[in-house]
Amino acid sequence: MMKVTEEEIRPEKVFSEYLELTKKDVTVFFGNAKREEIACPACGGEGQKWADKSGFNYKKCDACLSIYVSPRPHKEAFDAYYTDSPSTKFWATTFYKITEAARREKLWKPKAQLIKDKISQFEEDNKIKYIIDIGGGYGVFDEEIRLIMDIMPIIIEPSVHLANVCRQRGLKVIEKFMEDISPEELPVGRKCYVSFELFEHLHDPGLFLKTVLDNMNADDLFIFTTLSGMGLDIQVLGEHAKALSPPHHLNFLNPKSITQLLNSIGFEVLDADTPGKLDVDILKNNKQYIKDEFWKNTIQYSSESELNSIQQFISQSGLSSHMMITCRKF
Ligand SMILES: [Zn+2]
Repeated sequence: MMKVTEEEIRPEKVFSEYLELTKKDVTVFFGNAKREEIACPACGGEGQKWADKSGFNYKKCDACLSIYVSPRPHKEAFDAYYTDSPSTKFWATTFYKITEAARREKLWKPKAQLIKDKISQFEEDNKIKYIIDIGGGYGVFDEEIRLIMDIMPIIIEPSVHLANVCRQRGLKVIEKFMEDISPEELPVGRKCYVSFELFEHLHDPGLFLKTVLDNMNADDLFIFTTLSGMGLDIQVLGEHAKALSPPHHLNFLNPKSITQLLNSIGFEVLDADTPGKLDVDILKNNKQYIKDEFWKNTIQYSSESELNSIQQFISQSGLSSHMMITCRKF
């Protein structure tokens, strides 16, 4: 297992600058936005207040333990923010450029391999022709996957800045939100839809999944990663978890609640696990915020190799904050 640290992929200094810009954007784009109470996005249940952050309230569902922002600002505010704002521009230009080399090696190369393995696990005849990368960002995954698979990646990316970066790399981009794409805009042939770290951002996760389902054919696959609210670092750090970062992260489902949601929409879930590697490292970097005695002391008491074993156990038990779902149409 290649060692990945939080600092390599989220250098403290640059990340803080990004958070500063985000804070200003929150005021500009969400200060006067209309907000509405919503039910649990996974099961429709009722939630209780779980944390407050930057003027956003997070609730936790009594029934399925999903964590979600409610009341939730209206969609228009998010659309304007993601299409063109100073902090998304900073992310697409400065932040990604500085961290790209490390991210390519430590995140995207292994992820491309993981996706290739997942595809061959569920598609023995390997007839996938296209990878449809929803919210493809900087296109690094797509560059990496086309090196190791005989497929053509197509990126769906609504941000002007990110779409431009992808085009400059010679990647095919459709500059739209997934919700606005009709099936005939995509080529005919077997597809694997993917989306990485997108689901937690979605204003209406159920609507997004329905859109993907409607776009898919019976033999297509959909593989996506997102944050799990049952993840170790999120549970232990609560409001201090950096993952709780409005306006970006609105939905923290978990392997069980997301399976329930996918089934209700018409997906068959082939796999829902948490291959995350960073939880313990995140706890170490934020130990001043840990209130729970067990975790506070465990982080101080354990050796590197013991901490590695704990991380492996957490991942294998479905309790890492980084989860990966593989599904197809029922
Ligand atoms: Zn729920």
